[in-house]
Amino acid sequence: MLAEIIAIGDELLIGQTLDTNSGWIGEQLSLIGIKVQQISSITDQESAIIEALEAAKQRVKLVIITGGLGPTKDDLTKQTLCEYFKTSLVLDQAVLSHIEKLYKKYRVPVSKMNRDQALLPETAKILPNSIGTASGMWFEQEAVVFISLPGVPAEMKQILTETGFTKLQTFFKPDPIIYKTIRTIGLAESKLATLLTEWENSLELLNLKLAYLPASGMVRLRITGHNLKMIEQKTAELTKLLGPVIYGYDKETLEEIIGNLLIKQGKTVATAESCTGGSISRLLTRLSGSSAYFKGAIVSYDNDVKINVLKVNAQDIATQGAVSQTVVEQMATNARQILQTDFAIATSGIAGPTGGTTEKPVGTVWIAVASEDRVESVKLDLAYKNRERTVLVSSQYALDLLRTTFL
Ligand code: ATP
Ligand code: MG
Repeated sequence: MLAEIIAIGDELLIGQTLDTNSGWIGEQLSLIGIKVQQISSITDQESAIIEALEAAKQRVKLVIITGGLGPTKDDLTKQTLCEYFKTSLVLDQAVLSHIEKLYKKYRVPVSKMNRDQALLPETAKILPNSIGTASGMWFEQEAVVFISLPGVPAEMKQILTETGFTKLQTFFKPDPIIYKTIRTIGLAESKLATLLTEWENSLELLNLKLAYLPASGMVRLRITGHNLKMIEQKTAELTKLLGPVIYGYDKETLEEIIGNLLIKQGKTVATAESCTGGSISRLLTRLSGSSAYFKGAIVSYDNDVKINVLKVNAQDIATQGAVSQTVVEQMATNARQILQTDFAIATSGIAGPTGGTTEKPVGTVWIAVASEDRVESVKLDLAYKNRERTVLVSSQYALDLLRTTFL
């Protein structure tokens, strides 16, 4: 069961508005088993709209279009649809009273332009818009369904969730697609693929598909299929195979997983951050309720702060450099004591693009985690050559060191 989405509007083409509608529709359709095979953005012109509809009709059974339904002159989708489906506008009494009610609520008089929103194509089934004035419209032509929706994201969503998706399910009876996302950290895509070769080969026979979705130091593995039991079984196998490389499932984030583990164990954490500049504490505090386990951070960017606030040994900084195992371990150990927490995470590295040497090139980052009785540290050699990514990945790896070695 294939579909296409056509987003109408010049503002999309000149980058004034980002087409968020299509992505949302695509995600929702996939959940009910309808696969979007193409998304297009087109100009507000009758010929462009007709061409796009005609082309989509050759390829798929469902075409969803958004935008251009408003009462203004530049919104000509409705007229164009009448021409394309060889029908004409008639007054829809139910829609008119809905519009009048809305305006009464806003205490604004209904203009002719507003009332014209109740003029709708005679052959269309109406998909009511309970929060706005532009109705959704459902057309059928040669076994292809066309749905036209307003461009305003909230109204588009309302119409589809209130009536659109149910109607589509009744009409097409699609087989729902199930997704399972397994979230990994620390192994590159190619390493994972090698490790998973045999497991991955077993998926094909079961009609399951696997996608690798890499993003800055993490790779999401997404299994897609129709058989929930099979997907659960394969996920369990994967969990055994990869062990701690997996930090979570579906929409879980690393900081969420760590937060939950800390809460469960009644433990607290602080950070001492040099090259990450506070990014670890930013990640941790993105979650509401993080005050239960996160106490604070010392952003010790300058050596003076490492020495005077974190009490790192000045001699060690002079001989080993700030980016060194001994310094990062002292940062973690001392921050834990100063901020009185169960754990402290520390980072010291060269985020670049300047500041690298042959001995310590850009991307050299030391991370450490201290608990009451031990300190663990790891040296990262990140080859991103991009400051933002180096900081983000260092932060995530530092957080993950806490998860894998202490929680
Ligand atoms: P209205 O009745 O408000 O005029 P409409 O159907 O005419 O609705 P548009 O005029 O095309 O829709 O767009 C209305 C608003 O929705 C604009 O602010 C526009 O930027 C936004 N919008 C339109 N299309 C999209 C889209 N694909 N993704 C996100 N926002 C969109
Ligand atoms: Mg408009």
